[in-house]
Amino acid sequence: MLRNDQLDQWDRENFFHPSTHLGQFARGEAPNRVINGGQGCHIEDRDGNRFLDAFAGLYCVNVGYGRQEIAEAIAAQARELAYYHAYVGHGTEASITLSKMIMDRAPKGMSKVYFGMSGSDANETNVKLIWYYNNILGRPEKKKIISRWRGYHGSGLMTGSLTGLELFHKKFDLPLAQVVHTEAPYYFRRANLDQTEAQFVAHCVAELEALIAREGADTIAAFIGEPVLGTGGIVPPPAGYWAAIQEVLRKHDILLVADEVVTGFGRLGTMFGSDHYGMTPDLITIAKGLTSAYAPLSGSIVSDRMWKVLEQGTDENGPIGHGWTYSAHPIGAAAGVANLKLLDDLNLIANNRDVGGYLNRGMAEALGAHANVGEVRGEGMLCAVEFVKDRENRIFFDAADKVGPQISAALAATGVIARAMPQGDILGFAPPFCLTKSEADEVIHKTTKAVQSVLG
Ligand code: PMP
Repeated sequence: MLRNDQLDQWDRENFFHPSTHLGQFARGEAPNRVINGGQGCHIEDRDGNRFLDAFAGLYCVNVGYGRQEIAEAIAAQARELAYYHAYVGHGTEASITLSKMIMDRAPKGMSKVYFGMSGSDANETNVKLIWYYNNILGRPEKKKIISRWRGYHGSGLMTGSLTGLELFHKKFDLPLAQVVHTEAPYYFRRANLDQTEAQFVAHCVAELEALIAREGADTIAAFIGEPVLGTGGIVPPPAGYWAAIQEVLRKHDILLVADEVVTGFGRLGTMFGSDHYGMTPDLITIAKGLTSAYAPLSGSIVSDRMWKVLEQGTDENGPIGHGWTYSAHPIGAAAGVANLKLLDDLNLIANNRDVGGYLNRGMAEALGAHANVGEVRGEGMLCAVEFVKDRENRIFFDAADKVGPQISAALAATGVIARAMPQGDILGFAPPFCLTKSEADEVIHKTTKAVQSVLG
């Protein structure tokens, strides 16, 4: 085994870490952490420190760490056939089985699944399919995609553009011209103090209508949204939001992409977020929970309505000119099959309703009355605590005060990992689905202490 100082030096000198302060890290001014083990909801670092990972990695290790069933399936697949491609009708037993398992679980009206490796490339695929679709229908002008401020859809050129967070645009010359943003369904931050939820939904609808009128409905192809805003702050939508938005989209013949990278396969306590909110999407993005991150795999689930047109396009133009080397990678597919089985066998989606509800209620009870807590919110196994300087007048802290990061660091020091969300002072929780009530109690108790240690 390498010595810690050797590993540290190699890390600082060679490793370009994502979402990291580059200079500070390279100079050794920001900490590194080497993780080398995990079991259930816990991970362990190289120094033997154990953490309750209340963010499941990046809300992706849904069935928890150390699942031997998935490890065995991956090993067996690697021994038998580590790779073959999926072009021109090729497949493996694992990839075909997984496509069947996904479509059996998908909301009504969906037809087929296209496999990728990450949430970002799946959304890239979605945009290409949308453009292809409208070209086949003879409406080449109908191409723009509407996304919401604070939405998160990936880090590529197109998907980074769809993402509605400043950090992902600044100095990257994004967003691209085909992307336009609309109001975030974020009642706590965006509504006026005297606005009801219903009034705020009406405002979101009016903003969308105004944007469509400004751009011209014949230039707008699709609307993309996460059922629950994730990286933008873990924000369930106000009541009636999705029904009202879908009405507008139908009126203008605009497709709906449900980005279910976080919510797909059970996080909200239903198989898909679309089921939870009565959404009828034309495309669904899946990734993280598909394999619980045991191997990289993503997918775009395509509706019957779109499939019929895509088929017509390839009848006229030849095979679809879109494919990744690693589409439907057998090792990812084997992990996906084992993971979805485990999800059923352990009844983990029901646990999200039960223990997720317990976590949310407990967090609200413990922190809801704190002078600097503006809101405790969540759904299923997702929870967020948002901090404010002045609760009554809803005045936020300066970003420079780093209140969120300070609290998450204080919490990590007690052995619990939560995520300081990137925009605003918001502490996010998205534990593995196997969280127990006593682990939820530990998260609530230690979070309360961490908040008190920073804010009093
Ligand atoms: N969509 C959503 C809703 C996500 O949360 C993420 C990742 N956090 C992505 C897309 C991008 O996925 P990836 O990082 O695998 O490219």
